[in-house]
Amino acid sequence: MLEVHDLTVRFGGITALDGVGFDVGRGEMVGLIGPNGAGKTTLFNCLTRRYRADSGTISYEGEDLTSVAPHTIASLGIARTFQNLGLFPRMSVRDNVLVGAHHRGRAGFLTAGLRLPGVRREERALRADADAVLERLGLTGVSDHPATGLPFGTLKRVELARALLGRPRLLLLDEPVNGLNAAEVEEFAGTLGAIRSEYDLTVIVVEHHMGFVMGICERIVCLDFGRKIAEGPPGEVQRDPGVIEAYLGTAVGDGDSPMRPTKEGA
Ligand code: ATP
Repeated sequence: MLEVHDLTVRFGGITALDGVGFDVGRGEMVGLIGPNGAGKTTLFNCLTRRYRADSGTISYEGEDLTSVAPHTIASLGIARTFQNLGLFPRMSVRDNVLVGAHHRGRAGFLTAGLRLPGVRREERALRADADAVLERLGLTGVSDHPATGLPFGTLKRVELARALLGRPRLLLLDEPVNGLNAAEVEEFAGTLGAIRSEYDLTVIVVEHHMGFVMGICERIVCLDFGRKIAEGPPGEVQRDPGVIEAYLGTAVGDGDSPMRPTKEGA
């Protein structure tokens, strides 16, 4: 489904990604790990065309992603969530979720402005779809509540609901369990495992919580200073000496510890 080849991104003197390559097969759940500043979010930003790569290629379902317009990413079936939540605080949970369906509407500027019957039908259908996703994620009770003031764990699920409403085939999750307590992490893992097959998703998940990422992903890609230093099944990557060194000797995969490794000086 996705082939990343020799991807390099520089910011002035910093090489955020340095010749990174890996493939993701349809239906896979792949974990992207690495210490702070390793280049994980930069990679997501390339996949969603927020950043332009200096060199390298990204092929998604046979299409060259590096040359598509950024606004077409959602309609290609790629959705993401954000490390620091990308919700609109004053909008209701349902309206925040509906933002995820922006590319599914067919109405143009004029037809929407005139509120023609076709537009109202389309809005009803999208609202019904949003309500179904909200129910699936246990958010019906807060659907009319503004995003602001809701618990962090709930907001993480709202972000997931918004991404799902875009009907993605490839879902990119940036630190989905960061800030959640142990019970919430476990619940999120269960939900993600279930919706993955219900929604026929391929998932790439960036996460520092090793218990979560090693437990839920079939394959792990580890970056360090912009380079891929390891790739393989969780058990193998956890034992990889280069990965252990990158994490400054911290025992990778030690149960549920939500460790946030930091490199000296990074
Ligand atoms: P974290 O786990 O802390 O989120 P990360 O692995 O996602 O880290 P990135 O955010 O991709 O790492 O950053 C990789 C490097 O690129 C860092 O040195 C960062 O400072 C730099 N970087 C990322 N985005 C930009 C930008 N827009 N301008 C300048 N430098 C950037």
